[in-house]
Amino acid sequence: MNEIHKLYREMGISGEVIDLSQDVLSALSDRFEDIDRNAEYHQMRVLRAFQDNKVSEASLIGTTGYGYNDIGRDTLESVYAQLFHGEDALVRSQITCGTHALALALFSNLRPGDELLSISGAPYDTLQEVIGIRPSKGSLAEYGITYTEVGLTDSGDFDFEAIRAALNERTRLIAIQKSKGYSDRPTLSNEAIGRVSKFIKSLRQDCLIMVDNCYAEFVDKSEPLDLGADMVVGSLIKNPGGGLAPVGGYIVGKSECIENAAHRLTSPGLGKEVGASLGVLSSFYQGLFMAPTVTAAALKGAVFAAALYERFGFPVRPGSRDERHDIIQAVTFGRADAVISFCKGIQAASPVDSFVSPEPWPMPGYDSNVIMAAGNFISGSSIELSADGPIKPPYSVFFQGGLTFAHAKYGIMNSLQKLMSDGIISL
Ligand SMILES: *Cc1c(COP(=O)(O)O)cnc(C)c1O
Repeated sequence: MNEIHKLYREMGISGEVIDLSQDVLSALSDRFEDIDRNAEYHQMRVLRAFQDNKVSEASLIGTTGYGYNDIGRDTLESVYAQLFHGEDALVRSQITCGTHALALALFSNLRPGDELLSISGAPYDTLQEVIGIRPSKGSLAEYGITYTEVGLTDSGDFDFEAIRAALNERTRLIAIQKSKGYSDRPTLSNEAIGRVSKFIKSLRQDCLIMVDNCYAEFVDKSEPLDLGADMVVGSLIKNPGGGLAPVGGYIVGKSECIENAAHRLTSPGLGKEVGASLGVLSSFYQGLFMAPTVTAAALKGAVFAAALYERFGFPVRPGSRDERHDIIQAVTFGRADAVISFCKGIQAASPVDSFVSPEPWPMPGYDSNVIMAAGNFISGSSIELSADGPIKPPYSVFFQGGLTFAHAKYGIMNSLQKLMSDGIISL
C-alpha cells in the first residue's frame, strides 16, 4: 500500500472507496486537462490586469476614516473592470454579501414607477425579499418598483416570446441569474445570455440587463458584459475572492450603473470617493490572483462528485461530461437520510469544525428544514468545500467549492464512505 492510501485508510476511507475513486478519476483526465487549461487562461488574464493597472506594494495598504485617495481600492476596481470587461467597477468590503451587491445594483438603477423583469424564473431565495415577492421592510415593492418574471422553457432556455410579451413601457431592468443556484434547472451559458441580451436590446435599447454572476466567475471564457449585459454582480466569498477575501461584493459594468451604485452605497454626492478599505486589500488582491486555480479546484471536485455518484445511478446535474458554467453540483438522492449522510461526510472532512455534526434545521428564507455542511476559514464562504441539502423532495444536495482539489476529493470520498457506513449505498 502506498503512502497516500495508508493515510486515506487512517482517515477513514476504505480500500474499496479509494479504488473506486481512482477508477472514476482515471476516466476524467481529459476533463481535468480542459479545466487546467481554462485556469491557465484566466490566470494570465488576472496577471495582465494586475500589471496593466500597475498594482504595487502600496496598493496592498488600506486607508482609514473617510478613505479619500485610497489608491489600492481604486486600483483594484480598475483591475476588476478590466477583468470582467466593464467600464467601471465597485468592489468593496462595505458590500456585505452577494445579496447586498444585487440589492445595491437594483435599488440604485431603478426608480419608483419602474418595473423589474426576471427572465430566468424565480430569483435566488434571498432576493425574493429584496424585490418584495415575500414582503420585507425596505423592499423594492415598498418604493413602488414593480416586478414580473418569466420562467425558462422546459428545455432550460430563455422563453423569447414570453419575454417579448412581458416587456412594457415601465420595464427598466432585466435580471438574469446565470447559476441555477439551489434550483432544479440548468445553469445558463454566456452564449445563451448573449442571445437573449441581443434580442432584448433589439426591442428595448433603454432596458438595463443585470447578470447575477455568483459562482460563475472564471468558469466560461467569455464575459457577459461583452455579450450585451450592462452589469455583472457577485460575492467575494465565492469564486473571485479565491478563498482569501474575508468579506465583500462587486458590481462591474457601465459607468453610469456603477456611479448610481456608488452613490447609493455611500451617499449622494460622495459616491466612490469614500469607503476606507482598512486592512482587507491585500487579501482581495491575493484572493483574486488565486481565484482561477481555486475555481479550477472547485470545478474538478464538482466533476469528480458527478462522475462518482453517476456510478451509483443517482441523477446528477450537470452530468460529469456536460459543459459547466458554474461550480455548483447537484446530486439527487431521493431520500432524506442520504442527504443527511452526504452532508455529515463533507463536514467531517473539513479543516475547521470537522468534529461537529450538522443537523437539518429551519432556515430563514427556506420552506423546509435544511442541512448545511461547512467547516470554513471564512464564515459562510461557499468557495470553500460546502454542501446544502433542503430536506424535501426530490432530496438533492447542492455541493460546491474546495480550495484545493485534494481536499474536495477527500470530502467527496468521505461523503460516499458515510453513505456506505450508514447502509444507504453498497458497492
Ligand atoms: C450566493 C448567491 C447569491 C447571494 O448570496 P449571498 O449568500 O448573499 O452572498 C445570489 N445569487 C446566487 C445565484 C448565488 O449563488
